[in-house]
Amino acid sequence: MTRRDDLYALAAKTLARLLYPVAHLSAPGRARHVACQWALAVRYPRESLAGLTPAAHHAFTTARTEAFWRDGVLIGLTSGYRDAAEQHRIYVADQDKPGLPRALPPAESPHVRGLAMDVRPREGARWLEEHGSRHHLYRTYDNEWWHFELHPTRPIRLPYPGARIASTVRTRGGTS
Ligand SMILES: [Zn+2]
Repeated sequence: MTRRDDLYALAAKTLARLLYPVAHLSAPGRARHVACQWALAVRYPRESLAGLTPAAHHAFTTARTEAFWRDGVLIGLTSGYRDAAEQHRIYVADQDKPGLPRALPPAESPHVRGLAMDVRPREGARWLEEHGSRHHLYRTYDNEWWHFELHPTRPIRLPYPGARIASTVRTRGGTS
C-alpha cells in the first residue's frame, strides 16, 4: 500500500462513519452494509457491480462489508460481469501476451456468467483469499491474485485459466 492508498482508505473509513446515520435512516438494520457500499463507491468510482448474479452480488457486498468494518480492509471491484464481446476482446488480447494465460473464451468464462470478480487492491484480495470461503468466494488461479469466483464449495485451484487437471482425465479403453 502506498501512502496515497492509505489516505484514500482513511478517507473512505471516515466517510462510512459519517454516512452511517444516513444509512441507518434509509436502511434500518443494514446501515453498516449500506454505508460501506456508499463509501467504497466513492473510493472506487469506476467500479460496476451490475450484471453479477444476485448470489454473487450478495456474497461480494457482504464479504467486503465484513472486511471493512471488522478489519478495516477495503475491497474494490476492478471487473465483474463482462458481456461475451468484451470477454472475447480480452481473451484475444491475452493470447499475444507473454506468460501463462489470464483469460478464458466467453463460453467458458465465469465473468460472462456474472460469477467472477476481479478485486483490488492486493491487501483486499489477501483478505478475500483468507476469509472469502465464509461467503463462498474463492481464489481459483495461482497466477491471478485478483480473481475470485462464487462456488458452493471450495474448488480445486488451478495454475492458470484453462489449465486441466491431469488426474481427472479418464483414459479410453477402461471398463465402462
Ligand atoms: Zn477474472
